Amino acid sequence: MGTEKRFYNGGARTGEESRTLTTYGFQREIKVQAAADVVVIGGGPAGTAAAVSAARSGKKVILLEKSAQLGGMGTLGNVSVFMPIGNVTGFYRELIAEVLADSLPSEHDKSIAPQYSPFVLRHYLNEKMRREGVAVYYHAEFVGSIAADGQMKAVAVSTREGLLTFEAKQFIDCTGDARVAIDAGVPYASGRPEDGLTQPMTLMFMMQNTGKPVRRSLPEGCPVYETVADLPQGRRLYWEQNDDGTLLVNMTRVKGNGAKVEEVNRVETEALRQVFGVVDYLQRNGFENYILSHVAPQTGVRETNQIEGLYTLTEQDIVEGRRFADVVAQTNYEIDIHSPDGQKTTDERKVDGYDIPYRCMIPESLGNLLVAGRAISATHVAMSSMRVQATCYALGQAAGAAAAIAIDEGCACKDVPIAKLHDSLAAQNVKFFKPAGAAV
Ligand SMILES: Cc1cc2nc3c(=O)[nH]c(=O)nc-3n(C[C@H](O)[C@H](O)[C@H](O)COP(=O)(O)OP(=O)(O)OC[C@H]3O[C@@H](n4cnc5c(N)ncnc54)[C@H](O)[C@@H]3O)c2cc1C
Repeated sequence: MGTEKRFYNGGARTGEESRTLTTYGFQREIKVQAAADVVVIGGGPAGTAAAVSAARSGKKVILLEKSAQLGGMGTLGNVSVFMPIGNVTGFYRELIAEVLADSLPSEHDKSIAPQYSPFVLRHYLNEKMRREGVAVYYHAEFVGSIAADGQMKAVAVSTREGLLTFEAKQFIDCTGDARVAIDAGVPYASGRPEDGLTQPMTLMFMMQNTGKPVRRSLPEGCPVYETVADLPQGRRLYWEQNDDGTLLVNMTRVKGNGAKVEEVNRVETEALRQVFGVVDYLQRNGFENYILSHVAPQTGVRETNQIEGLYTLTEQDIVEGRRFADVVAQTNYEIDIHSPDGQKTTDERKVDGYDIPYRCMIPESLGNLLVAGRAISATHVAMSSMRVQATCYALGQAAGAAAAIAIDEGCACKDVPIAKLHDSLAAQNVKFFKPAGAAV
């Protein structure tokens, strides 16, 4: 074993051994807290839609969320504006109708890009889960997959009461990082193929118009930006659509992979320094009456891990506007890559619209696990387009419906009959642009 030593919790170790230590084993009997038909891990756009969809399909659903709020990057990351995808349908359409009725288009195949209150969305999703009979566990962070013979059995979760497990027939990984799938051994990729770099992270914040000039105060150690070119993204990017003096600002940028522990440590402190620098800049350049009113609880993560699924969505699929017989989501959101290597550029390219096939959510090695949301099987370029919230809601809704069908049919996720999946989605008011059926 050389210098590599393994220890198990409870085992004794000496000072000498601890210096050469490279790994610990960790074994413990963990109580089963609850069982459900479907356990969804991660309560962002994909997870909330997946949970509701499975519950509407008659299943008992548990939703595990590591933070105190649902909505994912939309609330936790304060990304409180929906990018347009040319398709306002299903769960997303319902959400718009119930929270942002003024923005609801008459037809589904329209684009909208409304700004919203992250606080209202957070409350809405809490109430939505309650009404739909979804059991939400907050402060419940997934820590381990328990699987055998190609089947997930349970997930181990860190809670306020310590470690607990949750059992289910079907699991849907909506952590955004594919944490459940990766822990269960599903192969994955991260970042650009040439160097593995992911899109940078951004700490979103809001400012509030006070109606009178405010006193500026730049904390020590925070950057001073004199010109637009000095700014972290080399541009000004904000929204003020709410008519209530709220300015939503997306102007920080820190290189790093949000799923890497050491990188996140650096990013969280650097991003907050940038927030104060950008606020100071804006207060000198057009927003003299605005105070800093809200900083997102965590720095927003655009891109981390993509599972290797039965199909991998590619740049070519997007650029060529490919259609698939097993379509589960449709979008025409642009290719949108914030430079991964520290440049101030953003690669933005319009696309006409394409399908995302069901197979992108299916890891080959496990029969009862789906991965929905931004961590689906997609290349670095393809994920830059499919990652926005409305698309993730659509993918989650499809995953919830598929998990329910897999239970009813007694089949693996990969064997879910697509016609049944489409019928189930149609019953949940999901509309596609045209009947699915082009080349697969
Ligand atoms: C800075 C930034 C700006 C963006 N701008 C826009 C925009 O303007 N408009 C737009 O529509 N989209 C935008 N996006 C993209 C969009 O917000 C995300 O891609 C989308 O929210 C992804 O949804 P998701 O459900 O896949 O994952 P996420 O939103 O990341 O949600 C994942 C959820 O899982 C939880 N979770 C993670 N790990 C665990 C665990 N171990 N156990 C339990 N729970 C866990 C998280 O707490 C979170 O609630 C932006 C993203 C960022 C970061």
